[in-house]
Amino acid sequence: MARTLIKDARILSMDPDVGEFDSGDILIDGTRIAAVGHGLVAEGADVIDGAGRIALPGFVNAHIHTWQTGLRGIAADWTLAQYLRAMHAGLATHFTPDDIGIGNHMGALHQLNAGTTTIADWCHNNPTPDHTDAAIEGLTASGIRAVFLHGSPKPDPKPGTPHFSEVPMPRSEVERLMDGPLGQDDALVTLGLAVLGPQMSIASVAEADLRLARETGLLASMHVSGPLKEHDGFARLEALGLLGPATNVVHGNSLDDENLRRLAGAGVTFSLTPEVELQMGFGEPLTNRLRDLGAVISIGSDIESSMAGDMLAVTRFALQAARHDLTRLARAETGAPPETIGPSTRDALQWATMGGARMLRLENEIGSLTPGKQADIQLIDTRGINLSPVHDAAASILFHAGPADVETVFVAGRIMKQSGALLDPPSEQQLKGLQGSGRRVVNAFAGAIEA
Ligand SMILES: [Zn+2]
Repeated sequence: MARTLIKDARILSMDPDVGEFDSGDILIDGTRIAAVGHGLVAEGADVIDGAGRIALPGFVNAHIHTWQTGLRGIAADWTLAQYLRAMHAGLATHFTPDDIGIGNHMGALHQLNAGTTTIADWCHNNPTPDHTDAAIEGLTASGIRAVFLHGSPKPDPKPGTPHFSEVPMPRSEVERLMDGPLGQDDALVTLGLAVLGPQMSIASVAEADLRLARETGLLASMHVSGPLKEHDGFARLEALGLLGPATNVVHGNSLDDENLRRLAGAGVTFSLTPEVELQMGFGEPLTNRLRDLGAVISIGSDIESSMAGDMLAVTRFALQAARHDLTRLARAETGAPPETIGPSTRDALQWATMGGARMLRLENEIGSLTPGKQADIQLIDTRGINLSPVHDAAASILFHAGPADVETVFVAGRIMKQSGALLDPPSEQQLKGLQGSGRRVVNAFAGAIEA
């Protein structure tokens, strides 16, 4: 297998045992990181000059609905209620398999371009197996690492059919997917479940879905963005022993202390999307409450129908929202600003790397530059007018860098972006395909409203 040596980079490993280097080397052997240190020598290896760059793990985008890439900006002024109506009961119903496929392919390329090497693709527009297969093909074509979280669409029920909240995960479809490419040991794209959970489904469905996850060993992720349909839903699931590290709650802003302690105590992980949460009136992001409980925090970009998908932007937003939350609490209590600033820049970078890895239960494979882990690495070029000089690598990345500064990206040791450009960029035809798909879906939705 090919070996690559990154020489003389600033290194933010995000692994306390490996540490940070003002200037160090990373040796990639095949798909994995072989060594991180000073003065590494590797006879015959390809050499990449890391001087003037910061090396860090690829970001893990812990919550994204990549299928909405073709609807960029449409939801920028929507509330949650407007979004649920227009997106799930409306626009989503006009998606063909081709719309899902091009959205996922182009959306995943955008993630790679912005330094994200793994996504939790929360795909809840799978009305037919053809839609699902197209979604997976889009991810696979991009070369990104992904957990494809299979979820159900949420249309208004047709006469004689049950409401989506009464429909459990389709077991046969989950088994079909596990028997296919997603079930392979070395697959870059693997399977998880995007379940409805106690907010969106009745008790028997929430239970059946988590039992299916437990039986299959798959991650089960659920939205909690408002009052629970079953107010004691999490207590019941806890009593049944169905909550654990393979359970993930997205948002959760409105959870009371009792439920939050219950979930954190069971090892449930959390994925926060503060930029969407603040827009759509979810309430304060959970960040500080989760920090107090020692729970796993991960960050996602959520919906490109509303905001930019790049993890640099959403992680920055998450950090400043958490700091603002502490200021708000301190001022309410004492009338003065807090004496310390709250979460640090490095804390936020942990959410965007190891937090996401732990959410996906891939913490032994990705999320830090640790020898033996997968070589999912990004190099950020700090020589430009917006980044130089670098006094603190974490601050330079989080507060000064943008996707254009992501110079090199590796996934499993394979170069996806080099010299600032994707190696397999979208073709003109594919970009036109994304535009055409988005316009067609929007027009079909508008036509259906007028009719
Ligand atoms: Zn979501």
